Amino acid sequence: MKEKSFRFRESFSRAIRPMTDKQAGQLIKGLCDYAFEDKAFESSDGMLKSTFALVSDAIINVIKKLIQTDKEEEIDDIANGYITMLKDLSCFSSANIFGILTFDKTDLIKLFELEAYLIKLSNQDVVKRPMRGVVKLTLRNWILKSRNNYNSNYLYKCISNKSANNALSNHEVWMQKIENLNDKRENKVIKELYKNKSWIKYCWAKNVRFKQLNDSFVCSYSKIIPTPIMQSKYGSNVFGYKSDRIADVLAPIALVKGHPFLDQVACYDILYSQNEAKEEINYLCELINLFEMSETDKNIFLNDMLEYWYLSIKDKKWGYEHERRYQLFVFNYKDYTDISTDDRFLKIKSSVYLYPDFIFSNSPIKYRVALYRTEKLYSIAMRDYIYCHNCLQADFDNVTYCGIDNKTCSICDSKDIEVFRTSS
Ligand SMILES: [Zn+2]
Repeated sequence: MKEKSFRFRESFSRAIRPMTDKQAGQLIKGLCDYAFEDKAFESSDGMLKSTFALVSDAIINVIKKLIQTDKEEEIDDIANGYITMLKDLSCFSSANIFGILTFDKTDLIKLFELEAYLIKLSNQDVVKRPMRGVVKLTLRNWILKSRNNYNSNYLYKCISNKSANNALSNHEVWMQKIENLNDKRENKVIKELYKNKSWIKYCWAKNVRFKQLNDSFVCSYSKIIPTPIMQSKYGSNVFGYKSDRIADVLAPIALVKGHPFLDQVACYDILYSQNEAKEEINYLCELINLFEMSETDKNIFLNDMLEYWYLSIKDKKWGYEHERRYQLFVFNYKDYTDISTDDRFLKIKSSVYLYPDFIFSNSPIKYRVALYRTEKLYSIAMRDYIYCHNCLQADFDNVTYCGIDNKTCSICDSKDIEVFRTSS
């Protein structure tokens, strides 16, 4: 029987040299698990993560090998395959699950450099549709997603008793119109950045025309456990989510030629530092600059893309909220099946409040959510888990069969926990 193998590249050995024996051992084990057992590489160690990210080099090397062909159709297939892959990978929902895809800024420059090269090699034009839309979407997703080093903290949503009861009855999420958001300086901070343009690296990037955002709706979560101030402002029921699947369950269904498909939701951590925002916009320009187009087209491209940045920069004073925001773009020409709008809100059918991963609440809301949680766990759990009767979380990772007398819930520290066996 042929033994399975994977190539150990010189770049890996260079990366391993400065590591401790423990780190190197963990990396090798992770690589073997990944190559032979299909297990995701998980580590909180930054050095190990970045080394594993050498996967971006591996992708680039494979593509470069493949394009050493003279056949035009093959080059077109490889170019389109790579462009689609880079876009699809940009849609991964949680760094907890897809840690291997957390490409850093240097990786992304290399990946987009290759994309620009392949577009040129296959005689395609980045300024024309549909390529233009695909590249814009891919750039947006990677840059916004990589903020805060792909921070994958739990997500929290504060909701009042009234709103939570309504949401559990009508299965709707209400997203605010921009003008109704509580920060009256929404959409203004970015304009202030452009009052002085000395920080902008590219001449073609200096002339920016801000547009009206009539079609945007947002809903906000927090990346930290909500403080008492946040709970008194937004509601005392805290719905918790272990991984970021919010965008997936908020996506509206649109009909295109009678066929349903899930529309996009932009999601990002808010930036609270003007300097960080300037640096990021310059980075966006650096990536746009990789593509072959005139300076006028680069400027139009940037102006289109900046729309995704309008609502993602806020004043420092809001920093304590550690906001993660989901932004929906609703267009009149699309036929949506599960949304409605009124003067203040866009209402969308979603299961997001029905099935949080845990909840902190002293109100009867918790018992309503418990019914949904129990039903979901009965329906999908294939492994034993520890269930917490206090916060309702199911812990599949720390199941023990030696008794749980001295154990507490890994989310809320409650001792009110129980092992549920699905195998018996
Ligand atoms: Zn708990």
